[in-house]
Amino acid sequence: MRERGAVSTLDVVLQQDIRGELPLILDRHGNRIPCNETEARIAHLAEGLGRVPGVRFGAPAAGDTELDAAIHAVHDAEYLAFLEQSSASLPEGEMLLLDHPYLPKDIAADTPIIGGIHHTARESARTAVSAAHLAARSGGMSYALCRPPGHHAGRAFLGGHCYINNGVLALQTMMRYGHERVGLIDFDIHFGNGSSALIEGMPNAFFGSVHGATDISYPYVPTSPPNRRQAFVPFSVPPSPQEFVAAVAGLVRSALASGCTALVVSAGYDVVADDPHGIWTLDPSVLSEIGMVFAHAGVPICVVQEGGYNPERLAACAFHFASGLLCVAERPAGHQAAHDVHATGHHPYGSDLLHEDAHAARYSPVTDSLNQA
Ligand SMILES: [Zn+2]
Repeated sequence: MRERGAVSTLDVVLQQDIRGELPLILDRHGNRIPCNETEARIAHLAEGLGRVPGVRFGAPAAGDTELDAAIHAVHDAEYLAFLEQSSASLPEGEMLLLDHPYLPKDIAADTPIIGGIHHTARESARTAVSAAHLAARSGGMSYALCRPPGHHAGRAFLGGHCYINNGVLALQTMMRYGHERVGLIDFDIHFGNGSSALIEGMPNAFFGSVHGATDISYPYVPTSPPNRRQAFVPFSVPPSPQEFVAAVAGLVRSALASGCTALVVSAGYDVVADDPHGIWTLDPSVLSEIGMVFAHAGVPICVVQEGGYNPERLAACAFHFASGLLCVAERPAGHQAAHDVHATGHHPYGSDLLHEDAHAARYSPVTDSLNQA
């Protein structure tokens, strides 16, 4: 474990080929709506990251052999073959919507397959694998700036703009490079159903998720942790900044308490106000506090880009999060305690946070959120 908060460099791995946008997605009622998961997201995010001292950009280094081994370790071979073949055979302008078996069970189908999307998703995965390798090797922090996102993709299903699960690929990469137990902390507003399903069968992985309650947010089905290695903090109403930071800090503490020596972060900026796919009211500046929470974990960290769809907010979100990770953010006096994820104590933690005094919850140490059913 490195010294807390001592990292001065954030290695941003920038996806090289980001081409290809979905012409539409379906809403929960099956209506066709515009897709906001655009190529331009990457430029906005890079602009915000580039303003932070200590951010260093590089290209993905993972070769095809390492990448394909990593993808096949996470996803079903027939699903991957289907994705590749359908993506390669679709003429420009055509798409495959629902006429295939690789849809998540009980969840409304929303994500088409278009020509070339397998290639772009594969390059997104290459970015995540490369970033994870970098953080595991350096012991520091990396950031996979990639699209499309991945946390809704399961072993043999796609959905929610996701085809290949970049976060779980990153987690397994950190395991391959020396970390026996790795945690994946997901703070996208949408529950990472694909990540949860994949990690359910991984005894050395921890999954913690802060998200909008899933009866009112995607995937619009009831969810609960499948075992003691997963912990969820769903919010039925938009969280205050203090509640959001406390929830993420609690999950990081749980991951560390369960023996994780490295973390992957599924970073979703659809948690801020005015996101076209979000319903929360947070200001982008809250992400600097979230970044500090992870910086104080004192373990190698690989951030993987998930959602965040408001082009006018993405640069600010990335700027604040990276500023927090590198501990160069302006911090209000008296806020330090919220980031100390190494405090000890016996405060039970869970969705009952919502019914407690937010200030008290924020400063209460969390030792075991694994007891949530
Ligand atoms: Zn999302």
